[in-house]
Amino acid sequence: MRKGDLTHITLNQSKMTTYHLETKIETLLCWTDSELQEVFGGFGPDIRLELRIRLAAGEKKIGSIDCQGFDPVTGCPGHEAKEVLDGTA
Ligand SMILES: [Zn+2]
Repeated sequence: MRKGDLTHITLNQSKMTTYHLETKIETLLCWTDSELQEVFGGFGPDIRLELRIRLAAGEKKIGSIDCQGFDPVTGCPGHEAKEVLDGTA
């Protein structure tokens, strides 16, 4: 099984559950403008403003665009390994 951008695997009632990489908005706000531009593209101060607006709206995390069911507050919901294996088989 390929890991891709999945960060860790936990055992959950004998089923494998995988989680996508996710970053706290608070952490991203500590980055420099050029670091934000490198990761997100666009103009650093605009990205920072967007992140502040999201944080003010109650969002806490930014996740992978590949993550089905990603929640901006709780993050990656976790995915049973079966669906991951189906995608890479
Ligand atoms: Zn996910």
